[in-house]
Amino acid sequence: MLQQYCASLTEYKRLPTREVKIGNLVLGNGHPIRIQTMTTTDTMDTAATVAQTIRCIEAGAEMVRITAPSRNEAENLLNIKNQLRARGYDTPLIADIHFTPNAAEIAARIVEKVRVNPGNYVDKKKFDFIEYTDVEYLAEVERIRERFTPLVRICKEYGTAMRIGTNHGSLSDRIMSRYGDTPIGMVESAMEFLRIARYESYHQIVLSMKSSNPLVMVQAYRLLVQKMDEEFDECYPLHLGVTEAGDGEDGRIKSAIGIGTLLEDGIGDTIRVSLTEDPEFEIPVCKDIVKRYSSADLTTSKNLTNLNPSHRNGHEPIADFVSRQLAVGSLQLPYNPFSYKRRDTLAVQHISSHHVPVVVADYGKQSKLSTRSLEAIGYTYNEATDKWSIGDAAADFVYTGNQLFDFALPGTLQVICDHAAWENAEDKTKYLPIFTQDEYLKSNLLLDQQYFVTVDANHVQDGVVDKISFYPKGVLVVYTTNAHAMASTRRFLIELMEQQVKCPVILQVESHEHTVDEQLVHFATEAGGLFLDGFGDGIWLKNDGARIENSKISGRTYLEVKNNGQFLNNTAFYILQATRTRISKTEYISCPSCGRTLFDLQETTAKIRAATNHLKGVKIAIMGCIVNGPGEMADADFGYVGSGPGKITLYKGKDVMKKNVPSDIAVDELINLLKENEAWVEG
Ligand code: SF4
Repeated sequence: MLQQYCASLTEYKRLPTREVKIGNLVLGNGHPIRIQTMTTTDTMDTAATVAQTIRCIEAGAEMVRITAPSRNEAENLLNIKNQLRARGYDTPLIADIHFTPNAAEIAARIVEKVRVNPGNYVDKKKFDFIEYTDVEYLAEVERIRERFTPLVRICKEYGTAMRIGTNHGSLSDRIMSRYGDTPIGMVESAMEFLRIARYESYHQIVLSMKSSNPLVMVQAYRLLVQKMDEEFDECYPLHLGVTEAGDGEDGRIKSAIGIGTLLEDGIGDTIRVSLTEDPEFEIPVCKDIVKRYSSADLTTSKNLTNLNPSHRNGHEPIADFVSRQLAVGSLQLPYNPFSYKRRDTLAVQHISSHHVPVVVADYGKQSKLSTRSLEAIGYTYNEATDKWSIGDAAADFVYTGNQLFDFALPGTLQVICDHAAWENAEDKTKYLPIFTQDEYLKSNLLLDQQYFVTVDANHVQDGVVDKISFYPKGVLVVYTTNAHAMASTRRFLIELMEQQVKCPVILQVESHEHTVDEQLVHFATEAGGLFLDGFGDGIWLKNDGARIENSKISGRTYLEVKNNGQFLNNTAFYILQATRTRISKTEYISCPSCGRTLFDLQETTAKIRAATNHLKGVKIAIMGCIVNGPGEMADADFGYVGSGPGKITLYKGKDVMKKNVPSDIAVDELINLLKENEAWVEG
């Protein structure tokens, strides 16, 4: 019996799924979480595709996907496969198909798995929101059956696996007309194809529900699990990914939030991190995500096949929801995991559900506090004018341990300090005390005094929750010592909701990981997952601070941190941006590129970022091709899409605004478009 959408909300357990064989690789049914990526070369360039596939395999990819936009590329998969096998690489290959059933039917006879997109396998996207009658709708489903069944039969005959891969941005007009571009529409889109496959007794199926918005993606996977369980009494394995996640920290954080939130609840059998970077750079991020749930060191291991996926098993128990179980065994939660609503909290100054989540910078271990040290968290002091300038990503609070500042602070920054230090502070509105649970239970508080209490969600002392209900100017700073961290914190927050305790909560997450990537994954998963469920009125990230290693692959540094305070502060703002709870900068939705890409995506993305990264809240999509780009850029405000060699088409929403602009002036034209639509401000 599932708990809402997973095997357990309090104990780490993998979701039971069917076993699927992809060449010599088995996934689902409790097998280790598999790692995959996709080539970006032209599939007709056999040598380049083989070379890139080998780089991905050497980095640790257990499956490699290659685009097959037409029959020619599908046929060339045979040459690619033969060359790889001749060089001793038997890693399963996956053909990526959009729009061309003919190519799928060829590829299914050659490679170990084909991926079809139910949004465009049969339907051509016209962006026509036609109203379908029930009869018309069923006729369309019947048309899909006729077109899709031959592929199912070929896969069955050749032992080829299949992914039914739904994308939020490329749902068919038929699905859009009935469900809109919603998580439930995504689920129904896949279920139509899955029902046809099951009718043919074909079960070598993996499913995915990708979106560039981690919230939509997480809700869609949860709904899909629930739907499969309800309709079939079993689940097929799930491939997890956030599409068009972008590059750098952004791409890693968005991916870790979407993928990690689901993996924490045991959902997911294989993952891909889509970055606008070379595909082999995706693999270390995948490993950092997956190793949180396995016991082996994946940083050095290439062969992941025999890893024990039970690292979380044996975590300290988290109280189950026994009191919430109804007689039939279904679980009632005080929030809806399929639809976002922020936990309702009372305001303590500007900390509450009616404000954006606050960011706390941790300077508890800094030996000397100076005006310079605040630059890392968004405050720059100008000595000549005696004024502070404040960045878009400026922290709201700084924690200083037992220290006080000896200079005047910017007006928007408040200080949280240990209770004993606070006693000595002159300005008791600027400085606010923080208590441990013990100190708090012994303290004498004034009713109008704002304060903070740190609470281990795993060991909440009796009396703390009652006291904070009585002295309502308190904010809980919640961390956990449980290895199954997100579930432990979530359990406590659910408890607060059940008891109708409405004090604000700041989520505190500490990472002891060694590399920047590992820490990003840790913070993004453990804090991001909670923000997606509407928990958290603030974020407080901590680490050892002394030294975190920059991430390297093949001797090249791909993620670098120079200032730890700035790293933590930026990461906190990135997490809030990715969960769309606090927008502090421009958002980029950029595709990872593939064999269809019509321009240098990495270089162009960097150029567009440099020109537009001051446009707070504007969403800009940068997509490599016009075939899939417009559909997949989902909810972007503006789009920059390759429409031919050296040609770019610019979009506002889904509308074409400037067609086939020469690429050497396309970034300038994009800026003009932003100006014409009042989305531009001078930087
Ligand atoms: S949008 Fe990008 S990743 Fe998707 S098919 Fe086009 S070029 Fe490839």
